[in-house]
Amino acid sequence: MTSPVRRKLEQLVAQSPIVDEQIPDKWSAFREIELIDFPLTFSFRHSFGKVSRFFIELENKRLMGTCCPCCDSIWMPPRVICPEDRKVTNWIELPGHGTLEAFSRSAYSLGSDSGTESLVLGYIKLRGARTAMLQQLRNVSDGDNLAIGMPLKVRWADGQVDHPMELFWFEPDL
Ligand SMILES: [Zn+2]
Repeated sequence: MTSPVRRKLEQLVAQSPIVDEQIPDKWSAFREIELIDFPLTFSFRHSFGKVSRFFIELENKRLMGTCCPCCDSIWMPPRVICPEDRKVTNWIELPGHGTLEAFSRSAYSLGSDSGTESLVLGYIKLRGARTAMLQQLRNVSDGDNLAIGMPLKVRWADGQVDHPMELFWFEPDL
């Protein structure tokens, strides 16, 4: 029979997980389940705010961190205020070379490729930076050849991407 509800997928009765028949099922009147298709689509308009220059300069193949005028700490990802001195920082370009601080493999991505590709993420400390940045690692054969402390270099995307963070990734610097 066709349901008057277009998005209704299924109607079923959930089984009680209690196997002992001596114990009454207090939820017996509530085990009828309706399943509906409920697509959710969200679109956000997001501002990168004060750290926007980091994302803008990625289009120019430049990695921009920030430097504290007081303690000379270089923050990457950029911080607009030094957490040590509460001073407003200055932009500074960092080299596209660094070392691997930590990494993780994921069977699925969260990116704009529909989540079908496996993903290797790493924390990379760029040369001169005090902090490490999270970014995708590629050409690492599912992460089998990764080791903490190994040298990495930045690679830049050639074509158009959906998100600024897809403009670059890191690979082993052999
Ligand atoms: Zn500082």
